[in-house]
Amino acid sequence: MNKLTVRDLAAEQLRGKRALVRVDFNVPLDAGRHITDDTRIRAAIPTLELLLDRGARVVLLSHLGRPKGKPESKYSLQPVDKPLAELLPNRTVSFVESTDSDEALKATNELKPGEVVLLENTRFLGGEETNDERLSRALAELGDLYVNDAFGAAHRAHASTEGVAKHLSPAVAGLLMEKEINYLHDALENPKRPFVAVLGGSKISGKIDVIEALLPKVDALLVGGAMACTFYKAMGLETGKSLVEADRVELAKSLLEKAGTRLILPHDATVAPSIEQGSSARAVGRDALPPDQAMLDIGPRTAESYARAIASAKTVLWNGPMGVFETPPFDKGTRAIAESMATATGQGATTIVGGGDSAAAVEQAGLADKMSHVSTGGGASLEFLEGKTLPGLAALTDK
Ligand code: ADP
Ligand code: MG
Repeated sequence: MNKLTVRDLAAEQLRGKRALVRVDFNVPLDAGRHITDDTRIRAAIPTLELLLDRGARVVLLSHLGRPKGKPESKYSLQPVDKPLAELLPNRTVSFVESTDSDEALKATNELKPGEVVLLENTRFLGGEETNDERLSRALAELGDLYVNDAFGAAHRAHASTEGVAKHLSPAVAGLLMEKEINYLHDALENPKRPFVAVLGGSKISGKIDVIEALLPKVDALLVGGAMACTFYKAMGLETGKSLVEADRVELAKSLLEKAGTRLILPHDATVAPSIEQGSSARAVGRDALPPDQAMLDIGPRTAESYARAIASAKTVLWNGPMGVFETPPFDKGTRAIAESMATATGQGATTIVGGGDSAAAVEQAGLADKMSHVSTGGGASLEFLEGKTLPGLAALTDK
């Protein structure tokens, strides 16, 4: 990576300094505001430990959910305080309710080396999402140097991810940011071959640019999910009640023409009259989709051949479930991908999972630790794969 990282900062540069660290603590909460998945908190710990070990005073910024520029108690970061403290044993962790205030500044100034303060949701601040210059400067007052470890928010040019970086020096990448970028970058630029990409999910529309960007780089691009149905439509096949994006059929046609044999569509489908009627699910060939039913998963033959392709690959990149994995029996195709990727990892392949739902599926299958890398950022990883610049990364100090 061509950016400075926390590893480039010596203890002399960090001792006693306030490290303003943008993390991604945008965790899922249940109705009782309990964290249902703490992956993103755990993912930030290595960077925090490194900074604390080198004597820094750590000030944390994060967003949570989508409040609209003013405080809303249901989006408070307060529920993160305790789990964070538990993940940093023997450290003092405190939570301060406001970010852009004298109180926040006071808290950061009173912080001792080895201590952590978590400030309230950055999206409670008007100006965060508009990348306001005044807010960026005010945030910069809260630290002596800047660390961005929020890969999941790196595709946003917000005050806490981009604007603030211009007012603090050095502005460096955290360990999670570095790891995320390295995995994705190496897969795109220097993949061990065969390089197989697997793309699925509900909509083709959000992933067209990814398909176009990946096609010239991969040896095979395996398509699943409802996305396959838009391609079927483009091929003139019956799609029944499947989710098809009518306004993308022409585009799907031109992609098929360009792609040649590298773009692979499912040969068979698991269909049912509706998601609720899983008990009547059955497999049909792709040219035999019944008009009154929907494709809700890839079929068993496809699952098998995709698994074979994955098993013989040296690099596998996966984004988007193969079916409605939330509802059995339509989780079979997605599970088959997760399992074959786990096997591939065991055989020395590099396996990368990107996308919120795909990551959840891998977690649900208990296979997350059998992947080389599960990305913490769905949107950010897609934009990176599309070849776009991530503003939160671009704003950091060059090596
Ligand atoms: P990710 O978050 O991994 O990028 P997406 O958000 O693009 O994935 O897509 C995930 C959603 O796609 C899931 O909610 C899943 O139920 C849905 N999906 C997958 N296949 C189908 C299908 N054949 N019909 C309807 N929905 C589908
Ligand atoms: Mg999703």
